[in-house]
Amino acid sequence: MNKPIGVQEVLRKKRDYLIPCVYHFYENPMQLVRGQMQYLFDEQGKQYLDCFAGVSVMNCGHCNPAITDAIVKQVTTLQHTCTIYLTETIVNLAEKLAQIVPGRLQKSFFCASGSEANEGAALLASIYTGKHEFISLRQGLHGRTKLGMSLTGLSLWRTDTAPVGGISFAPNAYCYRCPMNKCYPECDLACANEVEAVVKTATSGQVAAMFAEPIQGNGGMITPPPGYFKRIKEILQQYGILLIVDEVQTGFGRTGKMFAIEHYATEPDIMTVAKALGNGTPVGAFIATPAIADTYTRPGASTLGGNPVTSAAALATLDYITTNKLVTRAETLGNQLKAGLLELQEKYPVIGDVRGLGLMLGAEIVHADKSPAPQKVDYILEKLKDNGFLIGKNGPNRNVLAFQPPLVITRENIDDLLTNLESTLKTVSN
Ligand code: PLP
Repeated sequence: MNKPIGVQEVLRKKRDYLIPCVYHFYENPMQLVRGQMQYLFDEQGKQYLDCFAGVSVMNCGHCNPAITDAIVKQVTTLQHTCTIYLTETIVNLAEKLAQIVPGRLQKSFFCASGSEANEGAALLASIYTGKHEFISLRQGLHGRTKLGMSLTGLSLWRTDTAPVGGISFAPNAYCYRCPMNKCYPECDLACANEVEAVVKTATSGQVAAMFAEPIQGNGGMITPPPGYFKRIKEILQQYGILLIVDEVQTGFGRTGKMFAIEHYATEPDIMTVAKALGNGTPVGAFIATPAIADTYTRPGASTLGGNPVTSAAALATLDYITTNKLVTRAETLGNQLKAGLLELQEKYPVIGDVRGLGLMLGAEIVHADKSPAPQKVDYILEKLKDNGFLIGKNGPNRNVLAFQPPLVITRENIDDLLTNLESTLKTVSN
């Protein structure tokens, strides 16, 4: 391996050759050069416990040998053909997905990212319904393309001053700062009920679909209460509107179920996936029921979508998740981490709220008056990094600590993380 060029040189090249919207974490960043399961290593050889998994991607760990072997085998046999030629990997992957996704979802279209998956899902919903408007949730994030950004309810990510029209936003289920000024369960899911008001007052009635993440990741680990998606689906069905569930960040075991929507026992009409599907290789998909999927008959292909190498990686990933029971592991270890975070919340009032499911957890950091404290979050992230722990941050105010480690993390790793987090919270609280 070549000698690493060093942090300063990476920063210079980044400044000179990457478009500046490509941002990075940390005031004093490191250069990562190697990964091994739940660990990352910098150019100095320092080890970090990865508690963010490349933003919920590396569910099976970095350079997992079972997945790497499958990639190497495929890349040295048949690298690319495009779907105009028949190959076996892509159909095997589609079949495997059909076996694990909820409800009647069955047919897949493969692409290379979450943004593309959402674009495709929107297109399919319009083809099926013959309608062209969409509803989205405040604080949701659905991608960096023009439509993805327009469906995104976070100003921070909405750089486009001329977004796609026909998109209306409904309040999200942010119980800690309820947009309806109510409390669960007395609220009777007022935020979900509000979707009906949005359909009636903010749209022309020609709504094809509603987009929703089961747990809003970038939005700050917003976790709707039980019954939320059931109510939403009831309302949508009344108006002939499809439910598109964006599982790009929540899918493949992350939340302690194979897909997070299973926590809400609700059947989506279309589901979008990416990130953890390829465990670090670029593969995404939208998956629909046959009735919906079969209306998309005009020729369509994504040149690189579901190519043999990424399909082989995805098949090996799904196999690894099942064989190693990573879904149950996420649930068990998630409970351990959540219990630890809740204990810290009792001791340190800077933690205003702890939320999430499985190994997709957030801790909202606040001042004494409950106002967001993003500077404290930056301090905590930097300190933890210096101590060898990489965690994330998200939320509209960037004041939510995000915990989304590879699902292969251990009980001992979580104990170490909590111990280190506590020592950092002590200093930030003083
Ligand atoms: N949807 C969700 C919920 C996401 O979290 C993201 C990215 O963070 C996307 C879509 C966009 O995915 P990608 O970056 O692969 O285009």
